[in-house]
Amino acid sequence: ARLYNIEGWGDPYFGINSQGNVTVSTGIEGNTLDLAEVVESLKARNLDLPLLIRFPDILADRMARLQSCMAQAMDRYNYQGSYRGVFPIKCNQNRHLIEALVKHGRAYSFGLEAGSKPELMIALASLDSGIDKQALLICNGYKDREYIETALLATKLGPKPILVIEQPQELDLILTISQELDIKPVLGVRAKLDSKGIGRWGNSTGDRAKFGLTIADIVRVVRRLEATDRLDCLQLLHFHIGSQISAIGAIKNAIREASEIYVQLIKLGANMQYLDVGGGLAVDYDGSKTNFPPSKNYNMQNYANDITAQIKDACDRSNVAVPTLISESGRAVASHQSILVFDVLGTSNVSYPDVLPPSEDAPLAIRNFWQTYQAIDSTNFQESYHDAIAFKQEALSLFNFGYLSLTQRAETEQLYWACCHKIAAIINECDRIPDDLENFAEIMASTYYANLSVFQSIPDAWAIDQLFPIMPIHRLNEQPTVKGTLADITCDSDGKIDRFINAKQAKHLLELHSWNSSQPYYLGMFLVGAYQEIMGNLHNLFGDTNVVHIEIDNNGYRVESVVRGDTIKEVLSYVQYNGEDLLETMRCRTEKALQNKTITLKETQKLLQNYADSLNNSTYLKVDRSSRSLKQ
Ligand code: PLP
Repeated sequence: ARLYNIEGWGDPYFGINSQGNVTVSTGIEGNTLDLAEVVESLKARNLDLPLLIRFPDILADRMARLQSCMAQAMDRYNYQGSYRGVFPIKCNQNRHLIEALVKHGRAYSFGLEAGSKPELMIALASLDSGIDKQALLICNGYKDREYIETALLATKLGPKPILVIEQPQELDLILTISQELDIKPVLGVRAKLDSKGIGRWGNSTGDRAKFGLTIADIVRVVRRLEATDRLDCLQLLHFHIGSQISAIGAIKNAIREASEIYVQLIKLGANMQYLDVGGGLAVDYDGSKTNFPPSKNYNMQNYANDITAQIKDACDRSNVAVPTLISESGRAVASHQSILVFDVLGTSNVSYPDVLPPSEDAPLAIRNFWQTYQAIDSTNFQESYHDAIAFKQEALSLFNFGYLSLTQRAETEQLYWACCHKIAAIINECDRIPDDLENFAEIMASTYYANLSVFQSIPDAWAIDQLFPIMPIHRLNEQPTVKGTLADITCDSDGKIDRFINAKQAKHLLELHSWNSSQPYYLGMFLVGAYQEIMGNLHNLFGDTNVVHIEIDNNGYRVESVVRGDTIKEVLSYVQYNGEDLLETMRCRTEKALQNKTITLKETQKLLQNYADSLNNSTYLKVDRSSRSLKQ
């Protein structure tokens, strides 16, 4: 467990049981299941890997925790207001997830945030006009007439849409449309704070940020609303300083500035009711509890306390009522509920070649190389490593000038790896690894071929080097003996994972168990519920994986819903190929080949059958362990 720091990033949802398997729990004692067993039983239901498993109960627990932290903070600071969470749909738009979120959030009137017109469509249809009357619908993002009209008309349905002005020019359009429709809007302004977020998304604020109004813009909005007798419509102040804010200091600065703007807006006559602190509540992806970007140096309660205390303080100083507090936490709510489980298809290890002494008439370079190899011991291994590199280089030059044959070049390569193996054995026994051999383990690392596409399932690992916890989900009673990296099945050298979680810095190798083709080896990638699914792309035409929702209670679990992954026919249709047409083209090809007698009738039937089957199959590889071969 310590190798993967599962307590650090996984508590209270993930652990390891006495069988050495990863467990998943809902956060409620007793509601725990064995992930490896679940995977086997899903496979028995014909749901092949890679599989994205969602646990709506974990989603419910995340919302309950956020709600309870806010309630405790409000209690502690005698905050006479309430908290209304909204979920930013952009974080994960999938219907089953949004439905689960709305259902579980109902108890606290959890609302939704839309950042675009399609997301507004989802939000309006998801919040029930009867039972979700108290839920808020925060309308962010660029807006056109259709967006504004729809949101304004929806005010007649139940849940309250609040139009947040992100661009100065939006105000006039909103005022015109609301006059035409005779519907009074509830308005918010998104402020470009001076306080900066930090890390990858830190430039979501400041004067040059993409969204929001400068303070001068906000004052202009107030004046314009005043002039049109609509200042009472301005009720909300919003800011968002970026996602995954790893240092609590950045959050404190932002909320201090925003609270003051809020109070000043009241002083200017606005009818302020809500302060929306956006997203940013971070997830501890590496479990280090530090301000290293994949982590965070605060917990949810600290976050709630700091926000509540700062707002209360600013309002008390100016003697105004505290606002209803809104947060748009996406990552912190949705990350934990999804696990991607995938299998290993094969490995590539640095082989330990059997090297033989060179013949007496072998070139001097090879004979010297052999002597170096033979002489390696604990007193000279460092120097020998540099010699081995030099000999390998020399052999390459000799080969390029025609002085070494292909077989002799192969001999030198074998000698190089034989030297590396001897040196690795010595390093393993060393207390301290010399600086220049620090990346030696990486040179000797194995590659495990993973049945997934990094581009489809964890695009942030490829695009912005985001780290996610990855570990085997079984065999955890067995000491891992291999250090390796993961390569996916796309034909792209970027389709790899060679950075893994570790306190304060990423490490380049993952501890893995030895692999053999007759046994499945399952790895899990955790905390992938936010942003990954929708931003994944079809590189090499690997499509969506199978997705299941599993509900857990003290009687065990049940598969609540299944969304089958893309078939090859489906992904081909995204690039305008029609499965039937393709099959017909192939049939014509085989007829021609039959006529030319380059193929037998039996072969044509087998080929066409395979082609037709593939069209209806998953884009990922199927492992046939009985015949020990890969078949699509
Ligand atoms: N609100 C807005 C306006 C955002 O742009 C984002 C995402 O960056 C969020 C909320 C969600 O942020 P997070 O996932 O960090 O909670």
